[in-house]
Amino acid sequence: MPGRNHLYVPGPTNIPDAVLSAMHVPMEDHRRPDFPALVTPLLENLKKVFRTEAGQCFIFPATGTAGWEIALSNTLSPGDKVLSYRFGQFSHLWIDLARRLGLEVEYEEVPWGQGVPLDRLEARLKADTAHEIKAVLICHNETATGVTNDLPAVRKAIDAAGHPALFYVDGVSSIGSLDFRMDEWGIDIGVAGSQKGFMLPAGLALLGFSQKALKARESAKCKRAFLDINDHILHNAGGFFPYTPSIPLLYGLRKSLELLLEEGLENVYARHARLAEGVRRAVAAWGLQLCAQDPKWYSNTVSAVVVPPEFDARDVIHTAYFRYNLSLGAGLSEVSGKVFRIGHLGDLNELSLASAIVGSEMAMLDVGIPLTPGSGIAAASAHWRETAPVIQPRV
Ligand code: PLP
Repeated sequence: MPGRNHLYVPGPTNIPDAVLSAMHVPMEDHRRPDFPALVTPLLENLKKVFRTEAGQCFIFPATGTAGWEIALSNTLSPGDKVLSYRFGQFSHLWIDLARRLGLEVEYEEVPWGQGVPLDRLEARLKADTAHEIKAVLICHNETATGVTNDLPAVRKAIDAAGHPALFYVDGVSSIGSLDFRMDEWGIDIGVAGSQKGFMLPAGLALLGFSQKALKARESAKCKRAFLDINDHILHNAGGFFPYTPSIPLLYGLRKSLELLLEEGLENVYARHARLAEGVRRAVAAWGLQLCAQDPKWYSNTVSAVVVPPEFDARDVIHTAYFRYNLSLGAGLSEVSGKVFRIGHLGDLNELSLASAIVGSEMAMLDVGIPLTPGSGIAAASAHWRETAPVIQPRV
């Protein structure tokens, strides 16, 4: 098919040409004496994106799911109680994984489209006077519903309860795209994956551990082998890995970190916010709703668009793909058929994202959803034109 596929799922995301080129390397010896010149700055730059100076970052040849397991198994013991909230497919899967590791998971069902109930979180922690809850697990950005939680407010709730629980965050679809500050917000473990804000193929689980989380591993009894951070701590100290790393992914990560830091994290967050607002204006102009039920939860990395009840969102996704070579995110589990998702994170600008808006609109019209042709892109482009930054040189 001529022309590129327009990839607007919320991960994997589009890979910038500079990152693609950086990954095009011959294999090399990962035990060569100057290999640390590649690895050590990578780990340092990763800390900048996680916004931690006090903590330590890790790079595992795995995906975000393994990141969840790395966080839990390295710091907790079977039978330990953790507290969480289920409000979408990814918060659901983390809870499921924690149970499979033998943890006792206490969780609250939250309607999909809402976020963590902060008052109830604080009340639950206050009630836990024996401090049985060892960790609070929060999915920062629920990719299935386009809901972002207020992490400083979660920290505040934990502090207000005077509770010592560790604070673990799934930042797979937020870190590197949304404001995320490990040290300042007292986050003990942040989990990311390479295929979203880091604009790489899947294949790296990226984690930040606070000193408190690092200390917790001394008493943690969950079984771990390949995912044991002790081996990484030992080998990373010299600039190596405990096993064979993916060389192209490391070079890609070096370039993507360079791009993020050159743009400046605040600018990266602002770009995501501004582009996301254009998508939200388009959705409103179509007369449709987002799955996220309140603006305080609107995600700047993904919008889950609810189709009218007499339509099936899978038809929109199918049509967008086969007629227009546009990949939209599917509705997962409870929202399957009810929503389609537009991923707006990573390497994108106004005009690239415009293709997702125009393509969604064309596909919706094709399946019969009544909307005014051109209304979405008119609203998005008006917002982007009004808020266009002062022209900067592109090179
Ligand atoms: N957490 C969130 C919020 C996600 O969006 C995803 C994947 O989309 C995951 C975890 C799982 O990551 P992976 O598919 O890389 O294992």
